[in-house]
Amino acid sequence: MSGGPEDETDDTALVSTGRPRKGPFHAVNPPVERASTFLFPTYADYKTEAPKIRYGRLGTSTHRAFEETAAALTGAAGVVLAPSGLSAVTTAILAHCRAGARILVSDAVYGPTRYFCDGLLARFGVETVYYDPMADVAPLIDDRTALVFAESPGSLTFEVQDVSAVVAAARARGAPVLCDDTWGAGYFFKPLALGVDVAVQAATKYWVGHADALLGAICCRTEEARERVFRASLNLGLAVSPDDVALAHRGIRSLGVRLPRHQETGLALARYLEGRPEIADVRHPALPTCPGHDVWTRDFTGASGLFGVRLRADIDDAALGRFLDALRHFGMGFSWGGYESLCVPVRPERDRTVAPWPAEGRVLRFHAGLEDAAELIADLERGFEAMGARRAASR
Ligand SMILES: *Cc1c(COP(=O)(O)O)cnc(C)c1O
Repeated sequence: MSGGPEDETDDTALVSTGRPRKGPFHAVNPPVERASTFLFPTYADYKTEAPKIRYGRLGTSTHRAFEETAAALTGAAGVVLAPSGLSAVTTAILAHCRAGARILVSDAVYGPTRYFCDGLLARFGVETVYYDPMADVAPLIDDRTALVFAESPGSLTFEVQDVSAVVAAARARGAPVLCDDTWGAGYFFKPLALGVDVAVQAATKYWVGHADALLGAICCRTEEARERVFRASLNLGLAVSPDDVALAHRGIRSLGVRLPRHQETGLALARYLEGRPEIADVRHPALPTCPGHDVWTRDFTGASGLFGVRLRADIDDAALGRFLDALRHFGMGFSWGGYESLCVPVRPERDRTVAPWPAEGRVLRFHAGLEDAAELIADLERGFEAMGARRAASR
């Protein structure tokens, strides 16, 4: 074996990296090393210290191995892990803020990111200005701008942002760009290659891929950014369980076969839903009707399995309930990126402050899992029948 991750495709790198070899033979997978305490055999060892492993909170060899795979996939100079996707977001933001700063955040950002900005961050004297993800951010950037936070596509509403344009505008004023890339999973989208400084991944979703662990990854384009983020995580006392890291490492190995399947099934569901009379709009980045679809075509190499639909305004809450309760294969639950399909009602209109979302027409967020697509469509058909049946009967 020669060469490094640089000359491997993602599918190969996902399998071949993060597997340190030790001794004459070894297990395929890196061991789960559980430790608070590491022992140094001699005083001389103690004084030099293992450069990256010295205390459990800073991670063990299990963490280092996974960080290597995550860095190979995302093109990062270094990766800092966090106990959840949200803590990855908040740590990355905190690392780049100071009191009196102003930060620019997309109006379609993941809800809890917004609650952090409007809550804790505001209390420490950092002002958040929200921007329309479909508008030019340049006029909002000034000397107080500590960072621009992008998320593409946006949570719940799926606008695809022109991240290259955000990077160009921010660089002109010396502001770093952070991007939540959970939807693209570092596989269908490469924010760091476009000049983003820090790409955040809720590894809970597609990297873990089996709905059984929470994890975040802060993927830094430069060593300088990694150092800054690492210091913040150290100051905050973040620690990640090696067992969760091992689950994520097991999950990410199959990312390259899971994501194309999520894509294919997601598109089949979205196209079916587009043709249903109950649906007012479908928001799927790979469909031409999605805002920013042209940018998706330019910057992404695929679409994951998460998308949204807006129901016709005359479909009431009771009808929505009949639809949801009739589904057998779509679970009603939060999070996504696991092997199972999900359908959950959401309320994008509640958080928007700059780019309003119409209040009429309930919104459903779908995650296409790995089940058979035709059986999923039959399930939706059953839902629509239940939705219509009693409505017709009650007339
Ligand atoms: C789920 C999610 C997060 C947060 O991840 P957790 O692991 O649940 O904390 C952050 N960003 C996006 C876009 C998400 O979908």
